Amino acid sequence: MILKVAGVTGWPVHHSLSPLIHNYWLKNTKITGAYTMFAVHPNEAVYAFKSLKRTTISGINITSPLKAKAFEAADKMTNDAEKLGVCNVLYKSGDMLIGHNTDMEGFLGPLIETVGPQFVLNNTAVIIGAGGAARAVLGALLSVGAPEIIMINKTDERVEKLVSQVNVPSLYALPWAQRENAIFGAGLVINATSAGMHGKAPLDINLEYMQPGGWVYDLIYTPHKTVLIKQAKKYGLNTIGGLGMLIAQARPSFKLFYGELPPIGIGVHALVKTHLKSLK
Ligand code: NAP
Repeated sequence: MILKVAGVTGWPVHHSLSPLIHNYWLKNTKITGAYTMFAVHPNEAVYAFKSLKRTTISGINITSPLKAKAFEAADKMTNDAEKLGVCNVLYKSGDMLIGHNTDMEGFLGPLIETVGPQFVLNNTAVIIGAGGAARAVLGALLSVGAPEIIMINKTDERVEKLVSQVNVPSLYALPWAQRENAIFGAGLVINATSAGMHGKAPLDINLEYMQPGGWVYDLIYTPHKTVLIKQAKKYGLNTIGGLGMLIAQARPSFKLFYGELPPIGIGVHALVKTHLKSLK
């Protein structure tokens, strides 16, 4: 029997929830596998990742700040990784190290499941942020044909650069000072910034004039209910938190490491939620 070994790497990595999720899935399958964590210093990361080819490790997830290093180390990229310029998964295929990114799929899964494709196709979406997560959200919304996407970011130059690189007619940026105008009438607002995370100041945005019945999707999952989600509820808007995405982006990597998708409906969402509550 072959033991399939995978894990997550980052610097630091101890905060990662991936071992909790993957080991829970493993426990509920017949796979002989293990999932662990490896701390890798950024200066050593490319060498360490390339060396995976000389080990029996099936693959790894990559968290901050090593996602660009993983991209550099890969022999070949999937389309999703190529689009985003960063990898959150490295896996082996023959003698090749393949770089992949599951964030687009992870973002889209809970959105389409909850909101439905028609809503996305009939509403203006606002993406807040211009980092790796915002790029994944943008890639996902473009892939489903969102008709109008407005991007805003605290540092205007960063989002302007991103929008001009992507250069599609349905996408434009507005200055941070005009964020109220961006939000006005929008059906879908996505927080892809780190503002509102546990220990950080909440996102400075007013959702009052979003379209009634609109959706607010906050990618943050610690805390479970962010100040932004609470504000959305106050205005009667619908909400999606970041936990669903966290689990949805882990699912395809499990398949790449262990050869099959993890079981569904076995309470992984509740497990992670309980774990996060216990950290307070
Ligand atoms: P990143 O590349 O470091 O980008 C951070 C973004 O946050 C930048 O756009 C930055 O704006 C913005 N920002 C930081 N502080 C801000 C503030 N006080 N007000 C407004 N904007 C602020 O990070 P990332 O990888 O994109 O991740 C962003 C968030 O998404 C993180 O909280 C992460 O946990 C979450 N995420 C969740 C999942 C999931 O599975 N649920 C997956 C990926 C990411 P500037 O450019 O102006 O600095």
